[in-house]
Amino acid sequence: MKKNCDQDSQLSKQIVKWYLKNGRSNLPWRKNVTAYRVWISEIMLQQTQVKTVIPFYKKFISRYPNLKALSSANEEEILALWTGLGFYRRAINIYKAKEIILSDFKNRFPKSFDDIVRLPGIGESTAGAIMSIAYQIPYPILDANVKRVISRYESVDNDSTHKSNKKLWGLSNKHTPRKNIFSYTQGIMDLGATICHNSKPNCGVCPLQDDCKSAFKVIKSKKETKKQNPTKKINFVLARSNCSFLLFKKLEESFWEGLWTPLELDPNHPLPWKDDIETIEEINIKHKLSHLNLDIKINIYEYEKVFKLKTNEKYKWVNKSNIDKFGMPKPIKSIIEKL
Ligand code: SF4
Repeated sequence: MKKNCDQDSQLSKQIVKWYLKNGRSNLPWRKNVTAYRVWISEIMLQQTQVKTVIPFYKKFISRYPNLKALSSANEEEILALWTGLGFYRRAINIYKAKEIILSDFKNRFPKSFDDIVRLPGIGESTAGAIMSIAYQIPYPILDANVKRVISRYESVDNDSTHKSNKKLWGLSNKHTPRKNIFSYTQGIMDLGATICHNSKPNCGVCPLQDDCKSAFKVIKSKKETKKQNPTKKINFVLARSNCSFLLFKKLEESFWEGLWTPLELDPNHPLPWKDDIETIEEINIKHKLSHLNLDIKINIYEYEKVFKLKTNEKYKWVNKSNIDKFGMPKPIKSIIEKL
């Protein structure tokens, strides 16, 4: 993406001015700014709200304050810290990216856009944010908040088609200033998150109200109407021996990828291990993901001793005292903690 070379736009000047007075400068990733900290925060903020991210970010940074600390972490440890944050592929990508940074960049965060955007989990917008915030080199960004602000300001479609994305990237590039890039980038993200809301933009307090082509007349589009998520029924079987639980590494990409869960089994299918025991408990829970509602049934079987399985699946007997060391979906972890 080419950087804007024209004079700074009115939009960018107003946003910088607004950010310096009203921006969320107290967010933890806006203190002691480094490329590493911006990277972790930007990955966590993908598809997740600021207030949800804050405790996870603090925990992650306290455990891995820099690349040196992260370099020896294994995938499991990173996934364990991600438990409850969702979109677990992000944690797997952080693991893959830090391995590349270690092998190809001598464990120093890359400094060029082209090197950063090639790292797993980093798209053009995230790479632009790292360049602009950490290195203060102007690059456009286009996350959901920025898309909304620019599309309304310019009155152009924001319907996620290739055509409108291309147009919005061009406009984002046009508005990206040469000066004050640090304040502008964070300011436009903050404005989208706190004033130019999805359903009810607060135009009355917006610094862009005089020039925005949609000010005071934004109508919720059909695309923005919240749609119902489908429901997926899941049957789990959980073997237990004293305080140890038989868990399997989930490979499915649609959700909970890379996490440890009980075995998912068709209710008509026999247990793949000894079944000379009655179910001791059946637990039913409902859990919402961003794109799916889960209707979960877990049948728990008690055994005297742990046993081995003949299977190609990756499994482990995990002692309850160690569950914090494994990446596990929050509802599964909560159930095991109570057993
Ligand atoms: S004036 Fe209203 S619609 Fe335009 S950017 Fe501001 S909040 Fe959004």
